[in-house]
Amino acid sequence: MTDPSRSPSAGLRIASIAGVPVYLGWSWFALAAVITVVVGSGAGAVGYVIGLVYAVVLLLAVLAHEGAHALMARRLGLVVHRVVADFLGGHTAFDSRALTPGRAAAVAAAGPLTNLLLALVGWLGAQAVQGTMAGLVLGGIGWVNLLLALFNLLPALPLDGGQILESLVWGVTGRRASGLLVAGWAGRVLAVLIVLWAVGLPLVQGRTPDLIRIVWAGFIASVIWRGAGQAIASSQARAALEGRTIDQVARPVTVIPGSLPVGSLGPTPGIPLVREGGRYLLLGSPGEGVTVPPDTPVSALGTALPEGAVVESAPGDELVPALTTMQSSRSSVVVLTDGGQPWAIAIADDLNTLLGS
Ligand SMILES: [Zn+2]
Repeated sequence: MTDPSRSPSAGLRIASIAGVPVYLGWSWFALAAVITVVVGSGAGAVGYVIGLVYAVVLLLAVLAHEGAHALMARRLGLVVHRVVADFLGGHTAFDSRALTPGRAAAVAAAGPLTNLLLALVGWLGAQAVQGTMAGLVLGGIGWVNLLLALFNLLPALPLDGGQILESLVWGVTGRRASGLLVAGWAGRVLAVLIVLWAVGLPLVQGRTPDLIRIVWAGFIASVIWRGAGQAIASSQARAALEGRTIDQVARPVTVIPGSLPVGSLGPTPGIPLVREGGRYLLLGSPGEGVTVPPDTPVSALGTALPEGAVVESAPGDELVPALTTMQSSRSSVVVLTDGGQPWAIAIADDLNTLLGS
C-alpha cells in the first residue's frame, strides 16, 4: 500500500474521497461473480439477487475500510495517491516517507475499526427491524463488516494487523527493519496455517477436503505469502542501509543558471548542475568537432532530469529517501537538496557499488 510508482491500470475509477481517486480493481468483478454464483446456486433467481447484494455490501465495506485508511493518512499529513478496492479488501497507496511507528499504526487501525463500527450499526439495525427484508440486509452488512475487520486484524503482514505489529516492534526497538522482519515472518506462518486449515484439518478429522475451500484458501495464502516475502526482503534491504549516510555517495554540485552563455562557463569546484525554471539539467559535452557559439545558453547543452528526481536530503541523512526517489522517479540521477538548495547529486551506480560492497 505504499508504492506510489505502481500505476492503477488494473482498475476502474469510480469515485473520489476528499480529492483522493478511488479505483475498483478488476479482481473485484471476479469476486462479485464468484459470490453471486456461490450464494445463488440452488436458490434460483432470488438467490442470485441476494448473492449480488452481498457482493455490493462487501464492496461498500471495503470502500469504507480503505477510505478510512486514506482519511487517517491525510489527517496525519501524509500524501495519499489513491485508494483501490479489490479482492482481499484493497489497498491505499500513500507516500510513506514521513511515516513514524505511531502514524503507521493509526493509519492501519483506521480501516478495521471502521468495519467494526459498521458491524455494530448493522447488528443494532437488524435487531430493530427483525424479521423483515431490511433486517436481513442489515444483518448481512453486520456480518460482512465483522469478518472483514477480524480478518484484517490478524497480526501478520501484509494485513493491517501485521502493520500494527510492525509498528509496535518498530516503536519498541527503534528499527523498522526489525518490525518488518517480525511481521513478515508472522505473515508466512499465517499463510501456512490457512493451508493447514483447508487441507490438514479435514484430513485429521477423517473427512475429504473441500475443493472450493482449498482453491480459495490456496489463493488467499499465496497472496499473503507473497506480501510477507516482500516485507522480509524490504527488511533486509533496510538493514543493509543502516549506518550508511548520503555523504558516502553524494557528489557536490555547483548550480549554474540556465541562461548563462556557454562562453562565460569557467571551471567549477563541483559537478555543474544547470537550473532552469523548476528543472535541473546535467551538462553534456557538445561532441567531437562541434563548435558551439559562445552566446548559446548552457541549458541548450544540458540533459533534463525527470521532474520527480529531486529529494530533500541533507549531509548526514540516511540513504533511504534518495533510494526511494530514484525508484519512484525512475531516474538514475537524483538532485539532493538541503533546505531546498541543491548541494549534490546521487548516482545509481555509486549506490549499487556502495551497497554491493
Ligand atoms: Zn486495510
